[in-house]
Amino acid sequence: MDVAVWDIGYLIASILFILGLKKLGHPRTAPTGNLYGATGMLLAIVVTIAQMDFGLTNNFILIGAGLAIGGLIGYVMAVRVQMTGVPEMVALFNGFGGAASALVAASEVFRRIKLSEEGVTPLPEDLDLYVAWTAIGLSALVGWMTFTGSLLAMMKLKGGVEIFGKWYRTPTWGPEWLNYVKGLILIAIVGLFYMTIKEPGNQDYVIAIIGLSCILGILFVLPIGGADMPVVVSLLNSLSGIAAAFTGFIIGNNVLIIAGSMVGAAGLILTNIMCKAMNRQLIDVLFKSFGGSDKEQVTRTKVGSDPEEVAMICDGISKCVIIPGYGMAVSQCQHQVREFADILEANGCEVKYGIHPVAGRMPGHMNVLLAEASVPYEKLIEMDDINSEMAECDVALVVGANDTVNPVARSNEGPLAGMPIIDADKARVVVMVKRSLSVGYAGVDNDLFYEDKTMMLFGDGKKMMTELISSMKEL
Ligand code: NDP
Repeated sequence: MDVAVWDIGYLIASILFILGLKKLGHPRTAPTGNLYGATGMLLAIVVTIAQMDFGLTNNFILIGAGLAIGGLIGYVMAVRVQMTGVPEMVALFNGFGGAASALVAASEVFRRIKLSEEGVTPLPEDLDLYVAWTAIGLSALVGWMTFTGSLLAMMKLKGGVEIFGKWYRTPTWGPEWLNYVKGLILIAIVGLFYMTIKEPGNQDYVIAIIGLSCILGILFVLPIGGADMPVVVSLLNSLSGIAAAFTGFIIGNNVLIIAGSMVGAAGLILTNIMCKAMNRQLIDVLFKSFGGSDKEQVTRTKVGSDPEEVAMICDGISKCVIIPGYGMAVSQCQHQVREFADILEANGCEVKYGIHPVAGRMPGHMNVLLAEASVPYEKLIEMDDINSEMAECDVALVVGANDTVNPVARSNEGPLAGMPIIDADKARVVVMVKRSLSVGYAGVDNDLFYEDKTMMLFGDGKKMMTELISSMKEL
């Protein structure tokens, strides 16, 4: 068939990606955006397979088996994953994306090495040789770095890893001198790029690039921890796209270049948004290691309140801001939160939701959960906007949030230093729903728990919100 037909197929797939990305920009249109993206990907796969010459490649069974096994694993993982496990799954998929690109690049390497053994290779002064091997090297560097970095990020999001029944906490470690080690490794990799161009037939250089890139990925993510993880997760997402784009150049596949560039660019924009949300410079997150910390030991005590008490406080108030956090995702109490808000509204109270950009464990985590509970989008107010209203708020109901309302972030010390927070402490009364006085993801104790105006509702989010609803109904 005419080559133009395949290009038109790729063009339609690319248009679907662009439209899908545009629609993902708003929660209301996001499901359609997702569908567009998936359809574009299906079309790209179909076109890629259709243009293969199976008579020549003989790989039909291999490709069919790969698609079937990969599709089945993806389906089972997506169906079985708990809502709280989605961020880790996203990190894992970023890593797989990087590894897949790097593997395709590697297969091209070995094809070229075979060609050079047969004497069919461009001359050393040929520009194509430089471009091709540099792209191959970059794809290997970014792809393998993304792979190992994402695996470590996944374990950090999980908090640790279980080996033979024993639980090991994922370490956060990064002395200043580690930056020099990373710099040296990077210089060595660039040197190896040069050697692959000089001696295109020598696969030892390629293996060394793969090994050093894997180490570099681990060293980049190792020092980052605490509240700075959202930045690294979105950066790795971007890198997986960049690796795919490099691979697209190597194998001459336009749709891979377009899709990879889009993921790379969107990931970089998200990284920038996350840096702003954390009030960080990307360079500081990557090289200063101020996000990591050991969890603080909590020694203070606070007497808990009960739902009847909180219901009485909430009776007759005129403004309530609900601040959800990771604990809402764990307890899956978004429906109860919505029901509670409905009761308040029926009593004439204005209810809004204050959404911190890094609440939960993935960008947009709270928006997804609240959309599932049919909370109207106009009630989800971003941090900067809700903060100007907090002083006139009667009750700030904090459901499973901790770091994102921790006033210690206003100081210049510790893993949360400088991170903007939702000013829950400015409300007249603060009600915090969580199981204990324990710390949040960044591992820092929270003074807000101990303030006189704060009422702690100790217990699982769903249980506490259900009891609070019953108490409100009984008033
Ligand atoms: P935190 O992680 O700071 O705190 C969540 C709180 O939820 C915990 O203190 C916990 O307290 C409570 N909790 C857990 N389970 C339950 C439950 N079943 N019922 C009620 N409460 C529960 O959450 P935030 O959302 O405030 O902050 C997010 C943190 O995660 C930030 O530090 C952010 O940087 C980080 N992060 C965010 C990412 C993102 O992309 N959004 C990615 C990676 C990290 P207790 O145990 O006492 O119940």
